[in-house]
Amino acid sequence: MTPQRAVQHQVVIVGGGVAALETALALQRLSPERTARTIVAPNADYVVQAQTVREPFALPAADRYPLASIVGDAGATLVAEALARVDAAARTITTTEGAVIPYDSLVLALGASPRTRYEHAVTVAPHAMAPTLRGVLDDIDAGTIRSIAFLTPTGPSWPLPLYELAYLTARHARERGIRLATTLVTPEDVPLSLFGSAASRAIERLLLDGGVDVVASSEAEVPNPGEFVLSPGERRVHVDRIIALPELLGPAIPGTPHDAHGFLPVDPHGRVIGVEGIYAAGDATSYRIKHGGFSAQQADAVASLIASTIGEDVEAHPVGGDLRGMFITGGAPLFFSARFEGGHAYDSTVTPEPTVEPERKISARYLSEYLAARA
Ligand SMILES: Cc1cc2nc3c(=O)[nH]c(=O)nc-3n(C[C@H](O)[C@H](O)[C@H](O)COP(=O)(O)OP(=O)(O)OC[C@H]3O[C@@H](n4cnc5c(N)ncnc54)[C@H](O)[C@@H]3O)c2cc1C
Repeated sequence: MTPQRAVQHQVVIVGGGVAALETALALQRLSPERTARTIVAPNADYVVQAQTVREPFALPAADRYPLASIVGDAGATLVAEALARVDAAARTITTTEGAVIPYDSLVLALGASPRTRYEHAVTVAPHAMAPTLRGVLDDIDAGTIRSIAFLTPTGPSWPLPLYELAYLTARHARERGIRLATTLVTPEDVPLSLFGSAASRAIERLLLDGGVDVVASSEAEVPNPGEFVLSPGERRVHVDRIIALPELLGPAIPGTPHDAHGFLPVDPHGRVIGVEGIYAAGDATSYRIKHGGFSAQQADAVASLIASTIGEDVEAHPVGGDLRGMFITGGAPLFFSARFEGGHAYDSTVTPEPTVEPERKISARYLSEYLAARA
């Protein structure tokens, strides 16, 4: 080991998604010399899972990049294994292959695990979007599905994709001259409340014009195939097919604190509450918002804190900033943004053009810039 490496701060980042890559790229910028960065992740590719909603509809496939190339460009080392457990007292992690890796700072960015919520519905699977939904579209084309419902479970879930899938499915039928009764059920009081009132109004209008009925402020149960029950009200509705988002669970990593659903409790700077030297970002954390743009903001907060802690001339900032979203319509997309503070969205905007460059489906300060340069 060279003398310089001996004094480097060892940052181990677990995960190969948005939050992990944003952390690595941010640290490369904020602390290129004083940190040595290692990424531990089992996935061979970084797939932009937000773009997978396009795949059943013969739109371009989601972008995918070999993980090793991004990690290399971020000046980090890749360990292509999965995390098994953390020993916070010894400051080591152990992989599922048995490798023990020491750290000075550990960033947990393992994402959330989707779990089927309704036994009698088709559950949206981000890694198999086309195979999961293509059969449904074929049945619509064949006339065996004339009514369809899209259900959002209560609890943490990804905010955008179900609205996009409902809209794109209705559009698919309309373009073929097929009458399809399309309903979307959400516990939200208004669609996409995360992005504020202007975005909600725009989405309500888009869905209405696109032939999607929105039933808001409602929870659904699915007692039988083709039947859901709305509450409040206990109204029973029969449809030919039901599509649902999965519910999300946290990674419940042995050796780290987690809440009842397995999510890592963090403070606004991304410190995992109750342990020294461990940080977390992204869908794995106990924040209710599960959104790539927000995951990246959490990663930026963590990177700024680590950099400032080890003496870089960087101010540690808490998570925050404008939340951005891009709604895929199959034609021109819509772009939303809002400032999200204290559980409320302010200064909501909707534009047909991106409000920042480079704008991508997932808005991430360093990762978006990197992918744009790479494109
Ligand atoms: C269909 C769909 C559409 C979406 N649309 C949008 C959108 O338009 N805009 C937006 O901002 N967000 C969107 N999201 C949400 C966004 O994709 C997630 O919020 C974001 O990917 C979370 O990032 P993350 O890094 O926390 O987790 P992920 O991106 O899920 O990455 C987790 C990583 O951890 C790795 N991992 C898991 N277990 C282990 C382990 N034991 N050891 C090591 N590594 C492990 C995984 O392999 C993966 O690489 C969408 C999500 C879906 C599913």
